[in-house]
Amino acid sequence: MSEYESVVIGAGQAGLSASYHLQRRQIDHVVLDSNQYPGGAWQHRWNSLTMTDVHGVAALPDSDAPPTGAERANLAVARYFADYERQHDLPVRRPVRVDRVSSDGDLLVARAGDRTWTAPTIINATGTWDRPFVPHYPGIESFTGEQAHTVDYPGPEHFVDKRVLVVGGGASAVQFLGELAPRTHTLWVTRRPPVWRTDEFDRQAGHQAVALVEERVRRGLPPASVVSVTGLALRDQERLAESLGAYRRRPMFARIEPHGVRWPDGSFEHVDAILWATGFRPAVSHLAPLHLRSAHGGIQLDGTTAVVDPRVQLVGYGPSASTIGANRAGRAAAVAVARRLTAAAA
Ligand code: FAD
Repeated sequence: MSEYESVVIGAGQAGLSASYHLQRRQIDHVVLDSNQYPGGAWQHRWNSLTMTDVHGVAALPDSDAPPTGAERANLAVARYFADYERQHDLPVRRPVRVDRVSSDGDLLVARAGDRTWTAPTIINATGTWDRPFVPHYPGIESFTGEQAHTVDYPGPEHFVDKRVLVVGGGASAVQFLGELAPRTHTLWVTRRPPVWRTDEFDRQAGHQAVALVEERVRRGLPPASVVSVTGLALRDQERLAESLGAYRRRPMFARIEPHGVRWPDGSFEHVDAILWATGFRPAVSHLAPLHLRSAHGGIQLDGTTAVVDPRVQLVGYGPSASTIGANRAGRAAAVAVARRLTAAAA
């Protein structure tokens, strides 16, 4: 068993920011990350996503921003994180998948198989990528075509000459349609009509969106995606798809059949593939023994601190699920940990 002042779980943007700020405060900690290599979830993004396509990856604390341009995001950001870990000598251990965090008196115990790490505080920074969400629709098991989620999107070439149904009203669906529509036949369904941003997305709109999600988390509701409340925008690389009608959306179908989908009015579309761009849920099942979940289904936070158990900080969760939010949350969590350790020592 190894004892620390804090254990950070996850080494994406949020975990690295937290580790940087803990280190600045000379707090003895370890970062446990389930990936084999640096890069958080970015290393698993689809190959056709370039640094031009991303919505901006914020610079990690005390660092220049990652490169922009035509390089694959899964390479550029992974290299950026690897350099950062090395330059700041962050204590990252991998691959370590924490399967359980439990309480032992005043301490918290993180376990990965038979290995344990103990500390009076933990910072959970496990993101969402490991928990893709696919809604259940009647008949889903009977579909004979191909189904993929954002996590295993194989790129546009894979779908050439197929009829692809893209499900979901977020930024990933918009990007997939942008690159699929010029090469293959696409259909788009969303639960709610998409909200398009026509004006330049300004700072104030961003703050409002984050405040909305913050309020949900403060009340212990499951966090909504920040993007879902900022609205969607088409970029230059999606204009061709737009001219081809790819963004004429249909409402959700009622059921899935072996060769396609059927709407409540009886109309049917044959499709060869369903691409579920239906988002993610927070990857927090390892925290279940701490019973952090509120009756409303989410983890109630005060800033980054779990209300039910203030030894636990959550970063990259809810309002901080963006690279800039993760940076800020990492700092806030380190400050909260420092306060707690000081109070315990007094
Ligand atoms: P992650 O990067 O997911 O890192 C979590 C780490 O924790 C991973 O390394 C994972 O392996 C590890 N982990 C998970 N479970 C465990 C466990 N039990 N034990 C140990 N380790 C564990 N934000 C932007 O600002 N700009 C964008 O352009 C943008 N594009 C996005 C595109 C997509 C498709 C998605 C899904 C998100 C996007 N975001 C974007 C959001 C952004 O990527 C994240 O919110 C941000 O990077 C914060 O990451 P994180 O550290 O919380 O999580």
